[in-house]
Amino acid sequence: MTDHPPTIDPARHALFLDFDGTLAPIVARPEDARMPPQTRATLGALARRMDGAVAIVSGRALADLEPLLDGLDVALSGSHGHEIRMPGEETGEVPPLAEPLRAALGHLESLARSQNLRLEVKPGAITLHYRGMPHLEDMVRDEVRETAEAHAGLKPMHGNMVSEVVLDGVGKGAALRTFLSHAPFAGRRPVMIGDDVTDEDGFRAAHALGGFGIKIGVAETEAAFRLGDVPALADWLSALATRSPG
Ligand SMILES: [Mg+2]
Repeated sequence: MTDHPPTIDPARHALFLDFDGTLAPIVARPEDARMPPQTRATLGALARRMDGAVAIVSGRALADLEPLLDGLDVALSGSHGHEIRMPGEETGEVPPLAEPLRAALGHLESLARSQNLRLEVKPGAITLHYRGMPHLEDMVRDEVRETAEAHAGLKPMHGNMVSEVVLDGVGKGAALRTFLSHAPFAGRRPVMIGDDVTDEDGFRAAHALGGFGIKIGVAETEAAFRLGDVPALADWLSALATRSPG
């Protein structure tokens, strides 16, 4: 049994939030995902209150994530930590696909074509989506694992109805470490919040760096604390944003 999270100190903690299934409810088509307007307002207020030490850390590519945020200007990490954008920065040009990913692309493209899967190529990762086709999970996971094993510099990563080959060294833990080496995050205790398997790397990093993790949902986790669902997190964040100082 994992406990309800404690309150945090806006002056001493930093917040790292996953997007899908954490800030925004999971929807059938990923491009339809949206944060409730109240959550967007809460994050804006929290970012001001925490001197900017609030980041959204997503597996999505930044180019895919940004249009869903309705202009919210907080720190962002995309592609599981491979892309970083600090508040106020413009998103730069998308870098060319790294060599080990380029080598794996052909096989994953033909797999996607033959199985009618959605293939997404993003900085640092190639992703196969099988939402709506759960019977393909074992096959997709095996193919992704074998593809990663066949190419040096790649590792497999599995999430909710997605499997990806990603560059070694990429992960949400790496994103936390990058943010925490820069102002306004440096010196703060990280709190990582997420719903999926890929967030566990962030939970471990948060714990190692003097903070803690909050798991959204009922699945097994290494996070120290838990909230039941997306609305429960929205309430917890809102209480944090509106609580009087002191
Ligand atoms: Mg998620």
